[in-house]
Amino acid sequence: MKELNSLNDQELESFFDSFDQILTDITDVFWTISKNIPAAEDAIKSLKRLGKKVVVVCNNTTVPLDSHHKKFLSAGFDVDKDEIVTPTQILISYLKKISLTKEIYVLGMPALKEALAGAGFKLVQIGPEPLHETLAEWARAGVINGDNIGAVVVDADLNLTYTNLQRAADLLGDPEVVFVAGALDQRLPIGQDRAAISPGFFCKILEDMTGRVPLQLAKPGRLLGEYVEGKYKIEDSSRVLFIGDSIAEDMEFASKYKKLLVLGGVTGKEALEKWTFPEEYKPDYYVDNWKTVHDLICRIFENKLNRSFGGGRRDGNVNTTAMQLQKVFCRITEDMSFSTKCGYKKLLVLSGLTKESLDRWIYPEEYKPDYYIDSLKDIHDLLLSLNQH
Ligand SMILES: [Mg+2]
Repeated sequence: MKELNSLNDQELESFFDSFDQILTDITDVFWTISKNIPAAEDAIKSLKRLGKKVVVVCNNTTVPLDSHHKKFLSAGFDVDKDEIVTPTQILISYLKKISLTKEIYVLGMPALKEALAGAGFKLVQIGPEPLHETLAEWARAGVINGDNIGAVVVDADLNLTYTNLQRAADLLGDPEVVFVAGALDQRLPIGQDRAAISPGFFCKILEDMTGRVPLQLAKPGRLLGEYVEGKYKIEDSSRVLFIGDSIAEDMEFASKYKKLLVLGGVTGKEALEKWTFPEEYKPDYYVDNWKTVHDLICRIFENKLNRSFGGGRRDGNVNTTAMQLQKVFCRITEDMSFSTKCGYKKLLVLSGLTKESLDRWIYPEEYKPDYYIDSLKDIHDLLLSLNQH
């Protein structure tokens, strides 16, 4: 375990060169339940500018994918909808894979139920629960006919009732009924020194009651890893960096990847000093916060540029060459990477930049423009001369 901030320039460059794909957790990494985590959006932008691909992987099925995406945009993150993965997508993919045609009994939030219904699955409809006065009355009311039910799904359900939990246990008595679970966290931080009782506890009740073990669709379950690797065509797991805040979920899930633990979420530095988890969960690196990641990227990038262009000229406190080069970096990594992503032909207008930027190419190969030109005036002149012929 190395603290990112303690690495020298050479070690830092090796670290940033050691991965192409980032998978990152969201909750308590980008934001907590009540506030955004400072500089996370800047760090993600910087990592993308370095040519890294980013996929955010979260265990939260309580909000629809569109709302997840809107939250990213409103918090200033450069994250596409297609770069977000939640257990809902893995659940739909899994249920399609096993060709489930029977109904699904869901202990989960409306967003999860709507996504399943939207994907064409039939859900068991349960109305509001009346108040029960006696055990006999409650037992009668809880009876459910499981003949046409093929799966029980357990995830975060803020409206969970004793009766619904009992019905799930009854259904799982049939070994033919598939048992799948989303997040199995037991505690979700919901404020200072306060944690919510999370679905892991309820799922444990069902496991103990029925002797069944659910297929786990969220972190740290490997099904999520397989889904992500397939969807994003990740072939070399040694070139993947996983970023997360939890040892029990994120670092376990990331055992086969490089691991960066961001402190301040559910993990404090004392947990690293008094390690009580399996050795393979140990992060390769840890960092106190995102601002440090962003600052370190700026530092190594500036070093790279200065080396590449033979050092900057100092005017007072301002390194003007580095500043100009930073602009080159932004233009090439934003405009050219955008064009590459969209599959467009790329024309780079140098517009005052020197051709040196192209000769000493330090960006990802796929960002290279197909054509370049000194200025827009040259395009105008070329068109005029074409017309004259
Ligand atoms: Mg987290």
